[in-house]
Amino acid sequence: GQCVTHCPTGALTARDDTSKVLAALADPQVITVVQVAPAIRSAWGEGVGVPREEATQGRMVSALRALGFDRVYDTDFAADLTIMEEANEFIEWVKSEKPRPMFTSCCPGWVRFAKQHYPQFVGQLSTSKSPHEMLGATAKALMSQEAYEQGKRVFVVSVMPCIAKKYEAGVPQLSTEAGPDVDAVLTTREFDRMLRMLNVNCADLPEGDFDDPLGLSTGAGTLFGRTGGVMEAALRSAAFFLTGEKPDFSTCDTTAATPERPWVDKTLDIAGMQLRIAIASGLSNTAVLLDALEAGTASYDFVEIMACPGGCVGGGGQPIAFNQELASERAAVLNALDGADTLRFSHENPDIKALYDRLLGEPLSEKAEELLHTNQAEWDI
Ligand code: SF4
Repeated sequence: GQCVTHCPTGALTARDDTSKVLAALADPQVITVVQVAPAIRSAWGEGVGVPREEATQGRMVSALRALGFDRVYDTDFAADLTIMEEANEFIEWVKSEKPRPMFTSCCPGWVRFAKQHYPQFVGQLSTSKSPHEMLGATAKALMSQEAYEQGKRVFVVSVMPCIAKKYEAGVPQLSTEAGPDVDAVLTTREFDRMLRMLNVNCADLPEGDFDDPLGLSTGAGTLFGRTGGVMEAALRSAAFFLTGEKPDFSTCDTTAATPERPWVDKTLDIAGMQLRIAIASGLSNTAVLLDALEAGTASYDFVEIMACPGGCVGGGGQPIAFNQELASERAAVLNALDGADTLRFSHENPDIKALYDRLLGEPLSEKAEELLHTNQAEWDI
């Protein structure tokens, strides 16, 4: 099965969190918040018999409302937030003497793999939490007063393409004074199963909109769902922060990997700096890249790793279609959403600007560090 090969936690059968979520939805003392990862909108219709062109993002939002969630937020919004933090972290990194490269850290399958097999690199992981953890921490901080006044508590559910996100949500260090950032994680398959259990007629749903203020996102945030997307989104904003101009580059052609060199790389000239970047997906490919870094036969400034081949669109929690490689087809959905978006830079997201004004101050501020950053070396695994 796909989980055996793709699930980096080694969870051959995923823990089912459906009943925990149904209990929260039925509890009048709970405000339920749900967020949806980028990769879900490319695949959720597959398990409920809705053709890809009809399984729109708007219908997916309405499906979540039909299940009874009080707020429907978009993990893409928090992907933009992650980019704000990670792009600034990268700028500080390249200006420092820190060891190279800095690694992305939004994939818990990769973080866990690094902690178990390549602990020498754990100190080089970006400290920015992954988008769904950032959204959970932010939602709880923003809603704490409202929940207190109503005598209720906030329960955050993430719908993810990923079994490793269940592990990540349970990491005790990923919490704030408001409790765990995320209370339960549903995979795409569990989401589809809930829709079938509760007889939601998905083909007939109207087009819905995400709730404010954690619902608006840019094309850059959407790209998180495919291999190379985090790197591209981070460098778009980092280049703008450094030069004041919008760059026009696509970071890497991720189809160019070979069996001997199963990652792709590129050197980019940004603000007069020659930045060497590399992108790998799949843990066997990752091991080859890390061995080359360790041996000194490769060296980079910024490296993106995704544990699943093709990135989250091919994640272990996505609908399983036997003998079909859907990752590139699903990636095309995300590229099309990015291309059609009027906002393609995370820092242009007006709701992100508003969140910094209202709560966080600026990227890497004390408040941002408290809510949005972690030290993976301290994680219990
Ligand atoms: Fe999860 Fe995405 Fe990482 Fe796969 S690539 S383990 S789906 S975060």
